[in-house]
Amino acid sequence: MIAVRNLVKKFGGQAVLDGITLEVKQGEIIVVIGPSGTGKSTLLRCINFLEQPDGGEIQIGERKVEATRASRHDILGLRRSSAFVFQNYALFANKTALENIAEGLIVVNGWPKAKAHQRAREILERIGMSEKADAFPAALSGGQQQRIGIGRAMAAQAEVILFDEPTSALDPEWVDEVLELMKQLAVERQTMIVVTHEMQFAREVADRVIFMEGGRIVEQGPPSQLFSAPKDDRTRAFLRKVL
Ligand code: ATP
Ligand code: MG
Repeated sequence: MIAVRNLVKKFGGQAVLDGITLEVKQGEIIVVIGPSGTGKSTLLRCINFLEQPDGGEIQIGERKVEATRASRHDILGLRRSSAFVFQNYALFANKTALENIAEGLIVVNGWPKAKAHQRAREILERIGMSEKADAFPAALSGGQQQRIGIGRAMAAQAEVILFDEPTSALDPEWVDEVLELMKQLAVERQTMIVVTHEMQFAREVADRVIFMEGGRIVEQGPPSQLFSAPKDDRTRAFLRKVL
């Protein structure tokens, strides 16, 4: 279970997250939508302390962390229980596909190299990229690079995977293979929170869609309800633009 309670983040005195409360059950697939600049990325980044929140509480599993009193130990704990997939992949250019997947297991989890490489091979198999184990990112397509980014998150066996617009930087031809891999994870009931503009993915895969605007959750519900019968005017206005 993941819970965010009354989360606040300010930049230059301005609240970018204005009291976000959200509970995600194990195995739940959440899609977050909303206009640009509304705090979607900041929410994901605060959950794993890539940004330091200014108030509120974050809980992943048994670990409950008060934002302003988080110790180094708390922060490392939250980072181990959540994995992040970035829009721009954020792979190490000087490491192979296999090494990119193994790196976190070695550095963050302290695994011996042989064991980490073994796990990385299993992951490459699962994401259908075994034959690219020794390729460097520059030799991979955007879609393949992002699948490695997702593979790295899978390797961490984190409680939740946080996806920040994982397909937005891709050429259209590579989008589907990345969405397919994410669907595969959803079928396996990997808990995930996905910020995306892929409304078709949200419709098909999300258990719950959250619409954010101005640093707040305006409305949420199952996709069937939120997309066809939104209750709030702001949700309606946004959906009119993107659907
Ligand atoms: P997009 O859909 O464009 O990715 P978003 O919903 O992810 O938007 P955020 O990136 O979370 O929005 O940004 C929310 C607000 O916080 C924006 O006004 C942004 O300019 C501001 N912001 C984000 N990061 C910083 C930062 N490091 N310093 C100052 N302001 C920031
Ligand atoms: Mg963003």
